[in-house]
Amino acid sequence: MSVWDDLKEKVLACKGCVLCRERTQAVFGEGDTDAPIMFVGEGPGQEEDRLGRPFVGAAGKLLDEMLVGIGLNRTQVFIANIIKCRPPNNRDPKPEEIDTCKEYLFAQIAYINPKVICTLGRHSLHTLVRPDISISKEHGNPIRSKGLLYLPMYHPAAVLYRRQLLDYLRYDFEQLKLVAERGFY
Ligand code: URA
Repeated sequence: MSVWDDLKEKVLACKGCVLCRERTQAVFGEGDTDAPIMFVGEGPGQEEDRLGRPFVGAAGKLLDEMLVGIGLNRTQVFIANIIKCRPPNNRDPKPEEIDTCKEYLFAQIAYINPKVICTLGRHSLHTLVRPDISISKEHGNPIRSKGLLYLPMYHPAAVLYRRQLLDYLRYDFEQLKLVAERGFY
């Protein structure tokens, strides 16, 4: 079995935290494992838990629209989450749940070796880059950290709650387009 299939099998069978008790299934992530662009969200919601795929609910629809807006679609990127199992009632993931699960994400990042990681929302930004970064100040600004390039973005779900953030999310995707055009530096 390949390293990737082995990792996927481990995630789907994981019982590393309490979230395994109420999930329908773990959501491993999907897309092109050779993609230069990786998106990392927070965790599966109701639709994702039901279908076993990331970003397939309302936030996912907006993510798809944003991708199309810069000439991409979801098959050309890889989409994952910080935690692979849905927290009950979509509550925030607990620090210990993130801690247990993030090793899977780190293994996915190491395998894919993307040229840029777009963090969607603060959980992703704080887990992958630093917990003291303000998303409202740093969204759309590329950050180099630990040998990887990150682009902090607003979470599409936040935009669905606060429509006034839509222009910020559009701006974040325009920055992604610019980063890609200049060769991901
Ligand atoms: N929100 C996330 O952070 N991830 C998903 O997969 C869906 C919604």
